[in-house]
Amino acid sequence: MIRLHDTMTRKKRAFEPADPKRITMYVCGPTVYGRAHIGNARPAVVFDLLRRVLEHEYPDAEVTYARNVTDVDDKIIASAEQEGVDPSVVTERYERFYLDDMGALGVNPPTIAPHATQEIGPMIEMIERLVERGNAYEAEGHVLFSVPSDPDYGSLSRRDREAMVAGARVEVAPYKRDPADFVMWKPSDEGVIGWDSPWGRGRPGWHIECSAMIRAHLGETIDIHGGGLDLIFPHHENEIAQSRCAHGGAPLARYWVHNGFVDMGSEKMSKSLGNIVTPAELLEQGHKGETLRLALLSAHYRQPLAWTEDLIAQSKAVLDRWYRLLGDVEPFGEIAPFREALRDDLNTPRAIAVINEFLKGAEGPISDDYAFFQGGAQDMLRAAAASAKALGLLTMSKDEWFQGGGDAGDIEAKIAARAEAKKNRDFTTADRIRNELKAEGIVLEDTAAGTTWRKE
Ligand SMILES: [Zn+2]
Repeated sequence: MIRLHDTMTRKKRAFEPADPKRITMYVCGPTVYGRAHIGNARPAVVFDLLRRVLEHEYPDAEVTYARNVTDVDDKIIASAEQEGVDPSVVTERYERFYLDDMGALGVNPPTIAPHATQEIGPMIEMIERLVERGNAYEAEGHVLFSVPSDPDYGSLSRRDREAMVAGARVEVAPYKRDPADFVMWKPSDEGVIGWDSPWGRGRPGWHIECSAMIRAHLGETIDIHGGGLDLIFPHHENEIAQSRCAHGGAPLARYWVHNGFVDMGSEKMSKSLGNIVTPAELLEQGHKGETLRLALLSAHYRQPLAWTEDLIAQSKAVLDRWYRLLGDVEPFGEIAPFREALRDDLNTPRAIAVINEFLKGAEGPISDDYAFFQGGAQDMLRAAAASAKALGLLTMSKDEWFQGGGDAGDIEAKIAARAEAKKNRDFTTADRIRNELKAEGIVLEDTAAGTTWRKE
């Protein structure tokens, strides 16, 4: 049984899909006008893992994971104008980058990736329905959702009206009946991307895109809706209002799952603050995608994650050890407490700690802590390898992992030889290896997670 923290109820709840044969999950995807940063990569990695956990838990079910691509937006239009190209040139370029960058982090493509520009029909239909029902109105070529028409508005973010109006950062617009009302359709000037609609030529707002695409691809009520914490208000609140009012009160999602921010120093990593680091830059610097994936999974998904050089180094050290011990091991079985940790609201720090503890047991005499495990040291390694793979890690061979880092492979080989010597109580050899490396400017550090190295 999987348990998930549901933002709507503010509780960890047992996950029960509406139809155990068909599980539906939707996650708000990228607006494709720039390179994704590590903060953007976090939900991609977290929900990729959640999908894997669902597929493992429900092997006979069809898990449909939809992640949209926002390919019409004011920032896209501005960026295309600046370059003097069609918006599709910008969006196709950055969507390709996004898929490459996330692919390097071990993120599998979603089952479906609906594009806003290809779903205008369903959006217009939903807006028309909301107008008919008195939940929306037309004003000066715009169509706005009427927030006061929905008595349940604010149920997800639990904001009072004053905070909602302030938080919506609404621009003053004379055509709005209420300051909290939000745009579902807006007019497009000549030469700007647009589609014909009952309200004239225009383009959709962002919120209606997700509501309409969920309805078109997954149905009125889905099992899990996910995204970053910053989307709770106004984006998800608005999605909920549109969908519920269009569908006679049917809830949009049965579980709302939100991931925390990635912090740089004391601030949230964000494009507007200009403090971003991108996976592309980090990969360019020689870091491996799996190192970044482990770093992103090292904190619980709901907690803030402080992105530091140290975090990357620690993650690499853990993976070096895993590859050293498990890289050539045939995976089999799994560690039961590891799976339990994942089932418990995707507790990745605990899951990772279980693998590390297990490796200690596999390296040394098996203590009572591992009494639950029926098998010898080799079986433990195989179960640890299978567990690491379940996180989307350990996808390479040992050789591939230690290759490419220049002389890293040699250093790792020496560390392994030293560990072997220590195990055999041959401390003369162990010290000799340490000193040889030191002479080359390589310092070894013995940590609880194994031996790591750094250049002096
Ligand atoms: Zn959305």
